[in-house]
Amino acid sequence: MSHKIIKGREVSRPIRAEIKQRAATLRKAGWIPRLASLEVGNNPAAGLYIRNQQRVAEKLEIEFENRRYPHEISTRELLAAIRAMNVDPRVTGIILQRPLPRHIDLGDVQSAIAPSKDVEGMHPTNIGKVVYDDFVLGPCTSLASVEILKSTGLELRGLEVVVVGHSEIVGKPLGLHLMAELATVTICHHGTRNLATHTRRADAVFVAVGKPGLITGDMIKPGAAVIDIGINQVEVVDDAGNAKNKTVGDVDFGSAHEVAGWITPVPGGVGPVTLSILMRNVVAAVEQQKAAYERAMLA
Ligand code: NAP
Repeated sequence: MSHKIIKGREVSRPIRAEIKQRAATLRKAGWIPRLASLEVGNNPAAGLYIRNQQRVAEKLEIEFENRRYPHEISTRELLAAIRAMNVDPRVTGIILQRPLPRHIDLGDVQSAIAPSKDVEGMHPTNIGKVVYDDFVLGPCTSLASVEILKSTGLELRGLEVVVVGHSEIVGKPLGLHLMAELATVTICHHGTRNLATHTRRADAVFVAVGKPGLITGDMIKPGAAVIDIGINQVEVVDDAGNAKNKTVGDVDFGSAHEVAGWITPVPGGVGPVTLSILMRNVVAAVEQQKAAYERAMLA
């Protein structure tokens, strides 16, 4: 089976070109896109993501500022910091870096971010709009995954699609986006009896679980598109016998790429596109804020 490895960088190229243009237009009108990142404690894995976000933001003429709070901060203090950002006109978008310490309630903190600045599209108001397929700020990873599927040229209408994982941040919104495209969607999760019977009949399989090797080549229909959203760190031993960490997805790439028509690598697949959609949301948030301001001025 011939297969095509889908590179996130290539899918991202036109998205990033469009963002740059929209950001420049906003700047000319006096509106500066500025993303405030909120980090609690000092997590090395989060640090890498934050540096990536900063690098991409700056390339796209989006200002980026990371605000780090001590690990011991209380939920109350964090909520106060978010409220201050919500009313700060210089901050146009807010991203909450994960993981948060256990003593902080993620739901409370996520819901405290003003929906108009929620560039991750995770506030209940923004998620709710996805149900109506009438949203401006949608969840980044699920939108990125749909962009990747579209890049294959497959017709989404009527496509048999299986999503493995039903989290609020990825699987559930992904199912909604795909239904909006008129795909026939099956969502699998922990309670699914025989995962392989579902994945084997799918024209496209999305996997967002966090379990390396969950999907193997024998679970995939020949020629299907396989979009691996999972990010896992596994320990491998190199040729010299030294143990080192490697980033892998949820799909066993070796066996799956033999059968798949298209497949995303990890790293370098969904991740860069997610980052692009995040930046597109940053620009969309400012456009929305500008339009609201202009409407208020006219009233
Ligand atoms: P999560 O909240 O832990 O959700 C995992 C989902 O997988 C749950 O819905 C869980 O179902 C389901 N699941 C667990 N075991 C399963 C099994 N054996 N078969 C089928 N489904 C199973 O994780 P998440 O935040 O959605 O993230 C999933 C993965 O994607 C992680 O590796 C994460 O790092 C990665 N991720 C990547 C990006 C990106 O940009 N590339 C962005 C976000 C997340 P139950 O709840 O029923 O157990």
